[in-house]
Amino acid sequence: MQPDFAVDNMILETEIKFLAGIGPKRAEMLKKELGISTFKDMLYTFPFRYIDRTKFYKINEITEDLPYIQFKGKITHIENIETPRNKRLIAYAADDSGGEIQLVFFKGIKWIKDKLKPNTEYNFFGKPNVFRGQVNIVHPEMEIVGDETNLINSNIQAVYSSTELLKDNFLGTKAFNKFQSALLTLVYDKIGETLPEYITTQYKLISLKDALLNIHFPQSPDLLKKAQFRLKFEELFYIQLSLLSQRLNRMEKNSGFIFPKIGDSFNNFYKNNLAFELTNAQKRVIKEIRKNFATGKQMNRLLQGDVGSGKTLVALICMLIAIDNGFQTCIMAPTEILANQHYQTICDFMTGIDINIKLLTGSTKKSERKIIDSDLTSGKTDILIGTHALIEDTVQFKNLGFVVIDEQHRFGVEQRAKLRYKNVISPHVLVMTATPIPRTLAMTLYGDLDISTIDELPPGRKDIKTSHLFENKRLRLFGFMREQIKLGHQIYVVYPLIKESEKMDYKNLEDGYFAITQAFPPPDYVTCVVHGKMKADEKDFSMNYFASGKANILVATSVIEVGVNVPNASVMVIESAERFGLSQLHQLRGRVGRGAEQSYCFLMSDVKLSNEARKRMQLMVRTNNGFEVAEEDLKLRGPGDIEGTQQSGLPFNLRISNLAQDGAILEYVRRIANEILNEDNSLELKKNSLLREILNKNFKKSIDYSAIS
Ligand code: ADP
Ligand code: MG
Repeated sequence: MQPDFAVDNMILETEIKFLAGIGPKRAEMLKKELGISTFKDMLYTFPFRYIDRTKFYKINEITEDLPYIQFKGKITHIENIETPRNKRLIAYAADDSGGEIQLVFFKGIKWIKDKLKPNTEYNFFGKPNVFRGQVNIVHPEMEIVGDETNLINSNIQAVYSSTELLKDNFLGTKAFNKFQSALLTLVYDKIGETLPEYITTQYKLISLKDALLNIHFPQSPDLLKKAQFRLKFEELFYIQLSLLSQRLNRMEKNSGFIFPKIGDSFNNFYKNNLAFELTNAQKRVIKEIRKNFATGKQMNRLLQGDVGSGKTLVALICMLIAIDNGFQTCIMAPTEILANQHYQTICDFMTGIDINIKLLTGSTKKSERKIIDSDLTSGKTDILIGTHALIEDTVQFKNLGFVVIDEQHRFGVEQRAKLRYKNVISPHVLVMTATPIPRTLAMTLYGDLDISTIDELPPGRKDIKTSHLFENKRLRLFGFMREQIKLGHQIYVVYPLIKESEKMDYKNLEDGYFAITQAFPPPDYVTCVVHGKMKADEKDFSMNYFASGKANILVATSVIEVGVNVPNASVMVIESAERFGLSQLHQLRGRVGRGAEQSYCFLMSDVKLSNEARKRMQLMVRTNNGFEVAEEDLKLRGPGDIEGTQQSGLPFNLRISNLAQDGAILEYVRRIANEILNEDNSLELKKNSLLREILNKNFKKSIDYSAIS
């Protein structure tokens, strides 16, 4: 989705091929590579950085550690190198500093050779590298001095990201500078305002046309800052305004069930079956949910909390409240393993309490399925636990009042939405995630939901000790594992499973399993396996075998990532840890440390690591805190890549804001949007008509999106 801010002028909708210097062929490429189809798309293609064009380097000053630079020089001679494996053109440039630099071309050699004029002064521009001790620039941009295109004047040059294909077709930064210049010259006067005047005045924002001019051709560093601020403000402001107004609308429209009563199941459970005290965070969240239960408005709440923070228990307690008020409840989990485990846990918790609990998954037998169906429609079943099977149309409740969705990011938007329609009035919805989401991301992704956070682990948990090891420590690791097993503890060994290399991963897992059974031979040790290719019942068998303590070691792929609970497991070994993302590593680590014992996590990796992978390992070793991990993940990878958000994706294509860096602006505009809606919740005041128009025009799609639960 393009950010389609209503610049209310037809001219900006003009197809980009009509801009001077583009034409149909280049237009096709721009569309394919960067999604630019109109004038507006081009204007909103922002530079990713800037260069000080007042500075010209002398050639003898150029070193490989400089960023993009410009310098003047003349071509002294040209070398054409042609070997069977390598064709390239090297042009040597010199200036009066006595220095010489190589300009290297791999592509378009003939064309460049014909075009290069010796003894003519050029402006060169590019990033210095070093090759065999020689400083060079690969495919520099160049222009004969005096021949410079007539651009809008600016001493700060915008640099645009491009693609290989575009660069090969001379659609690099220089071309973009030209296009933007031609475009702004043409349309500058016609760019209308997209924020009401009272907002631009009150928050001291420059006009949209000046922002667009200065983002592409900064007239001064100060104006560049103001342009960036104005564009970020606008981008984030409309997203927040849209989310917050959707939330208001939903609350106004969707009435919800009221659960006023605290009854027998709840009291019984609380008094007799709950062996421990709830944490303060758990109590707070239950209070937040109970408040929703009392309003008569449908609840849509996200519950985030680290693995093992006791989310399931909170969900169960709230389910009991719904049940005591005569409603049915269900909990949907992304995998059979997890659904089974919830079933087990909840059955255990409910021992001796008169509650009817049923499990429905893909492997439920037909005969059993019949019983479930009839118990659901008759209202006999109080809690239905299951996988995706729950959302099938054939699953009919008598009176579903409360829906819990565990590990919500594993489900698609529609899947989650379907559960809403299982009753005439939408049931209350609680979605849970153990992938903590940084605040800025949560406000953007789930800005229309209420958010509860469990930020405290049950008492007595010890921090998991995490180490990063290479292969040379494997024997010592095995020794340590033996000690732990001797103490009666259990161990996970996890291998990556990545779709694209499924075969290889499977091989790694097999080899690993073999190596483990060599080092931990039966009958002294029992090792079992779980992987994605096993049938559900085989998986369950293996899982249960391990969970019941019959096996010492579980060798697994990341299928065990989600939610599995074996308190006796004290060691998590993650093989090829560099191939996992941060939040996945954190999730896996959360499989241990669930009992009172000291637990350990070992990240096994290759010695050769990318910088980013090394940072991931270091962070894991440094902290156990899921929120910290999530914040770092956001910084390292950018919001689009945060695990747990890929499936839903960022619903908004952020052109200029960066959620990792612009948290302060985000909070600021959210507050402003809130104030505006507090005064005028459907934006009917005259001064807000532009806001309403833009929301209606540009954020329709996201309204559907918000029906996630
Ligand atoms: P989550 O779903 O957040 O990963 P769970 O609800 O599975 O966490 O809880 C993890 C474990 O901690 C379970 O064995 C649960 O019974 C236990 N637990 C939950 N809350 C508490 C508490 N307040 N005190 C002690 N143990 C708790
Ligand atoms: Mg859980």
